[in-house]
Amino acid sequence: MQKRTKIVATLGPSSSSDEVIEKLILAGADVFRLNFSHGEASDHIARAESVRRAAKKHGRFVAILGDLQGPKIRIARFKEQKVHLDVGQTFTLNASLATDDGDKDQVGIDYQQLINDGSPGDILLLDDGRIELEVTEKHSDRLVTRVVVGGWLSNNKGINRQGGGLSARALTDKDKEDIKLAASMKVDYLAVSFPRDAHDMNEARELLTAAGGSAGLVSKIERAECVQDDQTLDDIIMASDAVMVARGDLAVEIGDAELVGVQKRIISRSRQLNKPVITATQMMESMIASPMPTRAEVSDVANAVLDYTDAVMLSAETAAGDYPVETVEAMSRIIIGAERNPLSKRSRHRLHQDFHDMDETIALSAVYAANHLIGCKAIISLTESGATPRLMSRLRSHLPIYAFARREDTQNRVALYRGVQPVDFHADEMEPDAINPRAISVLKERGCLESGDIVVITRGEYLNAQGGTNTMKIYQVD
Ligand code: PGA
Ligand code: MN
Repeated sequence: MQKRTKIVATLGPSSSSDEVIEKLILAGADVFRLNFSHGEASDHIARAESVRRAAKKHGRFVAILGDLQGPKIRIARFKEQKVHLDVGQTFTLNASLATDDGDKDQVGIDYQQLINDGSPGDILLLDDGRIELEVTEKHSDRLVTRVVVGGWLSNNKGINRQGGGLSARALTDKDKEDIKLAASMKVDYLAVSFPRDAHDMNEARELLTAAGGSAGLVSKIERAECVQDDQTLDDIIMASDAVMVARGDLAVEIGDAELVGVQKRIISRSRQLNKPVITATQMMESMIASPMPTRAEVSDVANAVLDYTDAVMLSAETAAGDYPVETVEAMSRIIIGAERNPLSKRSRHRLHQDFHDMDETIALSAVYAANHLIGCKAIISLTESGATPRLMSRLRSHLPIYAFARREDTQNRVALYRGVQPVDFHADEMEPDAINPRAISVLKERGCLESGDIVVITRGEYLNAQGGTNTMKIYQVD
């Protein structure tokens, strides 16, 4: 059985060889993330080429997602590389200190604005929340803090403020260079880290377009202010082609008690606004060093599937862990198990709302029809840009949605959408009357349909035109 929920696997030192990449694809990876926070341009280019080669070799469709570093605020470095902070001691973040001169009492900071934004009483979280500092005094060039949660602190660790509100803009100079790199690599998706609002997404889109790129833009929801009110969140989602629940930084900013509720809200809002959504970070964290997930991880992945996320993401598990292939295999297994739950087989999505255009009406009607029609085994969407299968996959269904597309960028892009299987199909080279029977026989030849099965097909009268889907037909396979 094919899983419907997709897997995003981050590539890194543990997963750069052709051999491992091939195994990850065969184990169920649908999207590969290239993390521009680490490694050189040449590493990313080589990995992308390897992914494309492996996908072709096995007749699979996988998307490549470039992920911009963004304005992650970091401490500078220590003379001794790391220090131990004791609870109750004083520790100063000092913008005037030389970059390599940190010690147990103070450390440099690469971002003066943190000092301007900070004030006494603020809680600062370092190293993904492992170290907690409370600001006690503010001076023009430094924040004096008291250590609330201590431990080892090493070079260049990230800093977040609880509650968010740091004013760093989303796109750094490095990000602007990486946008050009992403455009030249023709990545399928590009993720923007730490956007504050829709404006940051629009700016990224302008830069990407100017660089000649056409990737789908993914907004990483990882700042407290993005989820403070419904309007800000909706606006960011609407300015994006897909959304990521970036739980690593988000949880640090909003607190772990809020995280699960916010995850569910982002997933459901994204789906209602017709956008695919990825749930990310620490999903199988223990598998970095262990061949088996914990029960809590199994439950986390399964619950994200039941929340109806489009994809679940692996970070260090596949990029730097000891068991990258085993992790994807375990994740696929958990997904398939969770999808057997009847919760995910029917939909009331937009049942009581008006539709905005003809494509949307056909897309949603086709899925309602297929879900309710006994004997229906598949939905086929002949698509140019992938928009119709994206709309279709916003509804809950147990049926596969086959996206028949001639364009390679469309085939790859739809690989992220829940329940959508890309099929290479060149309707433009066929007689109009031959297209539907041919599409059905392609699936029959693959063993996806058999005689007597019912299938719903949508397409446009004017083939190869974007936004042209205006017909739905129902066939019985002979
Ligand atoms: P990152 O983003 O891995 O780039 O930090 C994801 C997250 O914050 O969860
Ligand atoms: Mn992050």
